[in-house]
Amino acid sequence: MSDHKFSPPAAASVETVLTHGGRVPDEQFGFVNTPVYRGSTVLFKTLADLDAQSQRYLYGRGGNPTTEAVEAVVTELEGAYRTKLVPSGLAAITIALLACVKAGDDVLITDCAYEPGRTFADGYLTRMGVSVRYFDPRIGAGLAELMQPNTRAILAESPGSLTFEVQDIAVLAKVARAGGARLIVDNSWATPLYHRPLALGADIVVHAATKMFVGHSDVMAGTISTNEECWADVERIRTLLGFFSSGDDAFLVARGLRTLAVRMKEHQARALDIALWLERQDEVSRVLHPALPSHPDHAIWKKNFTGAGSLFGFVLKPARREAMAAFVDHMRIFGMGFSWGGYESLCLPVKMGKARSVKPWPQDGNLFRVHIGFEDLDDLKADLAAALARYSAAR
Ligand SMILES: *Cc1c(COP(=O)(O)O)cnc(C)c1O
Repeated sequence: MSDHKFSPPAAASVETVLTHGGRVPDEQFGFVNTPVYRGSTVLFKTLADLDAQSQRYLYGRGGNPTTEAVEAVVTELEGAYRTKLVPSGLAAITIALLACVKAGDDVLITDCAYEPGRTFADGYLTRMGVSVRYFDPRIGAGLAELMQPNTRAILAESPGSLTFEVQDIAVLAKVARAGGARLIVDNSWATPLYHRPLALGADIVVHAATKMFVGHSDVMAGTISTNEECWADVERIRTLLGFFSSGDDAFLVARGLRTLAVRMKEHQARALDIALWLERQDEVSRVLHPALPSHPDHAIWKKNFTGAGSLFGFVLKPARREAMAAFVDHMRIFGMGFSWGGYESLCLPVKMGKARSVKPWPQDGNLFRVHIGFEDLDDLKADLAAALARYSAAR
């Protein structure tokens, strides 16, 4: 983004940043929201202006007031130097990785990372002469033993969005710094409201803005926020690759951000309520929610996070595939589909497949992932109770 002033009052709280950040009504004839800017061509008045290239905007691909409005808010929330809005969460991951490596370098990725990010690393980075290795999400300071002199990037996702291992970013950041590598963190689950990786020593934070920032299941977007040191590399790679997000999409991300704090509070309380309820059900063998004392990484979550997201997992006692179908096929409220972060609840059977390579996932039952939305909690529990009864009958 440019250096243009979008700032809310100095040292504003998160809620005030979300409501007042990224908009300057005085520049929009008093209208509260920054409108959708659509445009490719930006005009120059004189040859001197064209030569100087010092106008705030030069060409559409560099961004516009609508995209910058979103970037300003995320920068403030993450405590970043700058942020760029990109077309998807996956684009945020791929640009971040490409910004850190060149042929001959090495990348370390948490074994619980978002699968398409792994596919990019395995299928593309390796073709470009970068070696890709995975680490146990619970490795902690042991990561130092995996570092090579050519390791330039470490990708963490805390917690992993399918299996919910929490990684101690402060510990990984120390290892990265000592080894001359950059630490990239996917912070989609907690949002900067509940986890601020840059403050813990990370270099780059990526978001699937598609999820919590947007909040309404109607836009694809991603953000990359960095410290000052990494910014130029990220912006250079983004520019070289030609990634740009439209003003229309940016407008909807900004609209979602305005209510992020209230939504997160509701999601957190509701997800915890359902998680605790699931823990008491006979067919449930484990609930994977970092805020539950039963979670193996609860202590790290307590130390590094100030809240929890909408998304968690649970494992049902082993059963035939038919029982899984009986569980999900007849749900009345929970929908089945990828993505999450909207107002509506989702339940997804998790197929681990190629999503893990270092730390095999225990085959002790059937894993499901749920996103808890804003429906009535009793209705949600009734839907789950009926599904559990069908599962039990089909087992
Ligand atoms: C969905 C998701 C992504 C990818 O975001 P898209 O906008 O769908 O490309 C990345 N990381 C996590 C944790 C996600 O859940």
